[in-house]
Amino acid sequence: MKEFIKNLKTPIAIIGMGKSGEAARRLLIAGGVPASEIRTFDGKLTNADFGDPNKLMSEIHPGTLVVSPGVPLASTWIQTAKASGVKITSEISLSCAFLTTEKLIGVTGSVGKSTTVSLLGAGLAAFSPNSFVGGNLGTPFAEYAADIAEGKRKAAEWVVLELSSYQLENCEGLSLAYSAITYLTSNHLERYDNLQHYYDTKWKILSITKKRMLLNSEGGDLVEYAKTKSSERVRVISKNDSELSSLHLEKALLIGQHNQDNLALASALAIDAGWPMSAIEGMKNFQGLAHRLENLGATKGIRFINDSKATAMDSVLIAATAAFDTLSEGGKLFLLLGGRDKNLPWEQLNALGSLRSTEFIFFGECREIAQKKSQLAGKSYAKLGEALAYIFENAKPLDTVLLSPGGTSLDEFKSFEDRGNFFKKKVSDFAEA
Ligand code: ADP
Repeated sequence: MKEFIKNLKTPIAIIGMGKSGEAARRLLIAGGVPASEIRTFDGKLTNADFGDPNKLMSEIHPGTLVVSPGVPLASTWIQTAKASGVKITSEISLSCAFLTTEKLIGVTGSVGKSTTVSLLGAGLAAFSPNSFVGGNLGTPFAEYAADIAEGKRKAAEWVVLELSSYQLENCEGLSLAYSAITYLTSNHLERYDNLQHYYDTKWKILSITKKRMLLNSEGGDLVEYAKTKSSERVRVISKNDSELSSLHLEKALLIGQHNQDNLALASALAIDAGWPMSAIEGMKNFQGLAHRLENLGATKGIRFINDSKATAMDSVLIAATAAFDTLSEGGKLFLLLGGRDKNLPWEQLNALGSLRSTEFIFFGECREIAQKKSQLAGKSYAKLGEALAYIFENAKPLDTVLLSPGGTSLDEFKSFEDRGNFFKKKVSDFAEA
């Protein structure tokens, strides 16, 4: 059994039984802790042994709490347990006990984490398919460690972790070769005393970074905050940096200025880490996270973009601008707007009326209200499928079709994913027709 796990006082209670809690249980068992020594707690989910922390503490007297990032460490009962000598640890720390030769990269930030981590994943896929990408995004780190402990996989060359500020609060043993902060803005203040405390928690990532930490020059409050801290190991990265110009990042599939920032950050990390050029090419071919400005590429010369997740006017404005700015010369933009209304300020979209070569197409339950409030001219269809049939008839090579609906999906679909998948299926049917 690994020393770290062996030294944990039992019984061990896993606090928070979401994905990472389940993975922690699997890892403890794979690491040799008898199942009878592991108890679980969750205040909301019913898959746990306990739903009341007082009952857990008084009946079991755990020696160790493995606390999930979803449960505030500042909770009175956790702090009381800590003060009385109970060991507080996390899925991340348990996982670190199983690392051998892996080199780690950690990414944190208020926004942009998932995109940057996925970009790094696309880079690794090009030259190091055995690498692991996960953490707060996708697969929990403990799943990787459990696979190692169970002999199901070999040590990865690189491990890229998306780290939330909650994970950074409780990550004893974590040591990163490189790290990055994407963005700082007021977020999650419900769990912090103030903005300074939140930003300080994010900045903790530097103390566990051995070689270099990179910052996005366009990262909201990030650069100003960084000026209050100095360190030789920190470098600010901008998409306009001359060292990046030979990479032609502007040719990437990923669209949107903010994504260019994420790509610049990920590319600079790749270069620092000594990754080959194929990694940069892999990142440039990354289409984006599913349903979020996801560039499906060209079908019959027409570019299709799936931004089904956009259910706020701000998101639609960002998506429309990004699609318009990257429109091929001579091309036209078809913008699909609609779905179900939730009393949205559609009038904010009126500004899009000044975009040249843009055709608005309304669909779904809210098509009339959306059109009336936005005062944008355009055709209108009851169903997304009908609107797409019109587009498939009328779009020409060099055109772009953007689904960034503004309204929710629930008039026609189960979820935004369902709506985005419908869009993708229709596009692939069109490709074959
Ligand atoms: P996270 O994983 O940190 O929540 P994502 O990469 O999933 O972040 O992005 C969430 C949203 O944040 C995106 O849809 C986009 O609107 C916005 N965003 C992403 N990256 C940036 C950035 N570098 N600057 C500003 N906004 C961004």
